[in-house]
Amino acid sequence: MDHRRALSRLTAAAPAAAAAALLALTTACTAGTVQGRPGASGLRDPYFPKAGNGGYQIEHYDLDLDYDPADRELNATAVITARAGQALSSFNLDLAGLKVESVTVQGEEARFNRTGRELTVRPAKDLKKGEVFRAEIDYRGEPRPIVDADGSKEGWITTADGAVGVGEPIGSMAWFPGNHHPSDKAAYDITLTVPKGYEAVSNGELASRTDTGGGRTQFVWHDRAPMASYLAVAAIGKFKVTTGRTPSGVALYEAVAPAEAAASAPALAKLPEIVEWGSRRFGPYPFGTAGAIVLPAESLTYALETQTKPVFSGAPDEDLLLHETAHQWFGDSVSPKSWKDMWLNEGFATYAEWLWSEDHGGTTAQQHFDAYLKGDTSVDDDAGGDWAAFPPAAPPGAEDISGMPVYVRGAMVLQRIRQEVGDEKFFALLRGWATDHEYGNASTADFTAYAERSTGRDLKKVWDVWLYGEGRPK
Ligand SMILES: [Zn+2]
Repeated sequence: MDHRRALSRLTAAAPAAAAAALLALTTACTAGTVQGRPGASGLRDPYFPKAGNGGYQIEHYDLDLDYDPADRELNATAVITARAGQALSSFNLDLAGLKVESVTVQGEEARFNRTGRELTVRPAKDLKKGEVFRAEIDYRGEPRPIVDADGSKEGWITTADGAVGVGEPIGSMAWFPGNHHPSDKAAYDITLTVPKGYEAVSNGELASRTDTGGGRTQFVWHDRAPMASYLAVAAIGKFKVTTGRTPSGVALYEAVAPAEAAASAPALAKLPEIVEWGSRRFGPYPFGTAGAIVLPAESLTYALETQTKPVFSGAPDEDLLLHETAHQWFGDSVSPKSWKDMWLNEGFATYAEWLWSEDHGGTTAQQHFDAYLKGDTSVDDDAGGDWAAFPPAAPPGAEDISGMPVYVRGAMVLQRIRQEVGDEKFFALLRGWATDHEYGNASTADFTAYAERSTGRDLKKVWDVWLYGEGRPK
């Protein structure tokens, strides 16, 4: 792969930066110029070490994407507003494929080069530590899917009547340059321009929909709440759009492939109730808008909790809609610090399914727990699966972060806490966790410390056996 080349580039740059730093030190009092050094090309995520970049944090993305499903050509501009965390002579963005045509930083032409999935930008002037800077990247080309370690496809995927951009864990780099790691959350404005007759759907609220002439329609989407880039979505197709509001006033926007409309109707009819139920169980719904994007069947091999509007491949059932909507609290609002913390997303969303069932007269969370423990498939179809293959807080590799233990054993961890502390403290913990970490990032260590503090109980045995322990707990 490209890791070695990227490393040698950094190593080659390092002595020059060190010499420059020494020079800056000796002339510090008189020199007015900043001597930056290159930002890191990755954030050393345990599973995706090259994902994200060091030396800055992005505050805002302004993406302007013009796409034509007929020739699959994307013509785009990304304007990124970021804050330098160190003096920077250069910084990296993650971008896979596509052709970068020009880059400016602070309005001045910047040099850039590509190595694998890294775009290195060298501003005309070094950036100061703490400086808020604006980088504008013009790029185009045919965006492509990225195949993950577990074989699933993400990135940019063409569908029966359009295309969709999705990005868990790293696929967003296939359609826009960015700091593609969940630890860097930012606000987004996403503008999609498509041929007339298509709908174009993204995160947050639709600010405007305009015919721009030349047979094209422009959709301007705003998401002011901080978002991890893996939760960004752009869906282009011949959707049927329905809008509405939940009883407590959360706006709803549903875009459904016409062939899936009838099959989606029963689950989507429950969405207002799901949002209201979640608000009672987990604290106020974190965003101003909720909804769903239902793609033509078989567009993807999974559903994804894209922020404010989860994406489904074909009609979702009630459990799936519940699961992805629960992620709006657990994953989207409270995002993982690294991909090792994936169970904080999936364990909680799976537990939400159990709880929804329990609260609606179905199988209780304890019955789900017992069914998995005994492998009783009469209670839960999946109970015969290998939920104990590895500890949920320590998946063996990148291909395992969406493995069954992350979901099921993660949910069982929560039920074990409930057994230890009782309902009152447990439900206060769920609400408190979501509310206190709203719009932020959290790690497994943050959770275990929070759980013990919030319940006043030593839960070390639960962590040792269920969260970190090898083998099948009894
Ligand atoms: Zn999930």
